[in-house]
Amino acid sequence: MGRYTGPACRLCRRVGEKLMLKGTRCATLKCGMEKKTKSSGQRPARRRKVSDYELRLREKQKARFTYGVKEQQFRLSLKRLRRLRVCLVIIWLYCLKRRLDNVAYRLGFAESRNQARQMVQHGHV
Ligand code: SF4
Repeated sequence: MGRYTGPACRLCRRVGEKLMLKGTRCATLKCGMEKKTKSSGQRPARRRKVSDYELRLREKQKARFTYGVKEQQFRLSLKRLRRLRVCLVIIWLYCLKRRLDNVAYRLGFAESRNQARQMVQHGHV
């Protein structure tokens, strides 16, 4: 089972929202999204029109990054759900929320989902 090992704050910046991937640090002023208030460079970043595709892609990425699901895992789970011919998005989100690492995180056993995932892998939960 693979997992993303790169910088977590980069994922937040990519989707433009706080995904709370680093536990308590996310609530402090050390958060990367809090620090970076304006874009780099002399000129302010231009507002561009967000396409429908980009909007949907961003929402999918947000869910993937939040729950720590890889693209391959994501595709396989959707493929399985397609066979059932049900409303995919709701069921998929329901499946993600029922994962043991997410439950451990929501119960407060861990500070972040990554930490909860490690606890599950090490057999503490
Ligand atoms: Fe995202 Fe801020 Fe947490 Fe970094 S510290 S993962 S930018 S919410």
